[in-house]
Amino acid sequence: MHELSIALRVIEIAREEAARSGAEKITGVELEVGELSGVMIDALEFAFSSVREEKGLENLRVDMHIIPARARCRECGKYYKVKQFYETCPVCGGMNPELVKGRELKVKSVTVEQPDTEKSSL
Ligand SMILES: [Zn+2]
Repeated sequence: MHELSIALRVIEIAREEAARSGAEKITGVELEVGELSGVMIDALEFAFSSVREEKGLENLRVDMHIIPARARCRECGKYYKVKQFYETCPVCGGMNPELVKGRELKVKSVTVEQPDTEKSSL
């Protein structure tokens, strides 16, 4: 299942990020998911809910930001919203759009829990 491997990969990235900053635990991840990234949001949410427990991340907060798809017309240079890869330009009718936004699938930020410094200094 595609979304399950994405969820696992996101957690892996978040853990690497946490390890680099010396944090103990990941508490949240923020994702950017393009409308045309091919990811099913519902399936991805479901995938996260099933891997949370397995990975000991019961309280992990997952925020997904949907990035609307936009294209730029190669004929007239106008930008317009699209719902699919190839959509005719509404301005000039050109059929040669370049997708400029909407295919992203990335980890925007990772929230971590830093070790309790007060406690550890005792
Ligand atoms: Zn155009």
